[in-house]
Amino acid sequence: MSVLVYVENAEGKFKKSTFEVVSYAKEIAKQLGTSLTALSIGNVADSALAELGKYGAQKVLSVSNDKLKSFVNQAYASIISSAAKAEGSKIIVLAASFSGKGLAPRIAVKLEAGLVDGAVELPELTGGKFIVKKNAFSGKAFAHVELTSEVKIISLVPNSYKVVEHPETATVTAFESTAAESDFGVMIKDIVRASDKISLPDAELVVSAGRGLKGPENWAMVEELANLLGAATACSKPVSDAGWRPHSEHVGQTGITVSPNLYIAIGISGAIQHLAGVSSSKVIVVINKDPEAPFFKVADYGIVGDAFEVVPQLIEAIKKF
Ligand code: FAD
Repeated sequence: MSVLVYVENAEGKFKKSTFEVVSYAKEIAKQLGTSLTALSIGNVADSALAELGKYGAQKVLSVSNDKLKSFVNQAYASIISSAAKAEGSKIIVLAASFSGKGLAPRIAVKLEAGLVDGAVELPELTGGKFIVKKNAFSGKAFAHVELTSEVKIISLVPNSYKVVEHPETATVTAFESTAAESDFGVMIKDIVRASDKISLPDAELVVSAGRGLKGPENWAMVEELANLLGAATACSKPVSDAGWRPHSEHVGQTGITVSPNLYIAIGISGAIQHLAGVSSSKVIVVINKDPEAPFFKVADYGIVGDAFEVVPQLIEAIKKF
């Protein structure tokens, strides 16, 4: 019995969240006294696959196939399920990323497995139990879910577990795709990158702004602050609804969930639906001219002031470093 971790890649490269899930899965495997197998789908170089050994994978299965170069939900779920069966894996770990959120329930159905979607800590394994902590009620609470099924699936929230090195020598082995023709009902033909900006779901630093900025013409200072910090930009829902910013920047209950190390919110009230997507950020800084703005209740640092005065001063201060 080994633990299986699905290692997601973006255009052939592994993201930080991939190393997080491998480190997380390795710790579970260690605690259970078993080995860790990683499964990669898509065209990833053997050298990058072998590097997964650094984070604890002893074996890496690689499905390299042009048809599977881009993410295909059903096909990937079929392959992960058959790899788990072939390896006899009873625990499957993947990232709670955009694709992970689509894959985990599909794999759970195929393997009749219990699933915890959005784990934030290592499972508690005392007394033969398997209890996983996850966010609940849009991040306002935690749930401790006991998985009692034979096969268990955990998707891990990005940036909730540190990358840890557990050096192993990983052997890379080809694994045949088991996807059927019917699994390719929907296929991605081409991915055109809209910009070279930092990808929001994976960003470690985020500068976000809301309706307090009055209009799209005032985003230059948000962009400048983000560029100086090497941060991604985000916004509240009304801002993207009004077309001030692209929908890909909308965070919250109905948008993207982020969990960066630093989230700077400028002119955002902090409505519960917005907080749902940002409350797992490690440090929250709020800039708002209203001292009663609800966002201050969850902020680690707050600046009560006019964004049009505070942000330029912040930019000047950072430039001096
Ligand atoms: P406002 O509420 O208008 O707040 C603007 C803030 O800017 C105020 O706090 C004000 O004090 C401050 N401000 C004004 N001028 C300045 C200045 N010069 N300097 C500094 N501060 C200033 N919202 C989301 O963001 N994400 C979601 O996913 C989401 N999903 C939703 C789902 C549902 C079902 C519903 C009903 C709502 C959803 N909303 C979502 C909307 C949410 O309820 C709020 O309306 C929204 O988050 C408010 O956006 P805002 O804070 O930018 O604007």
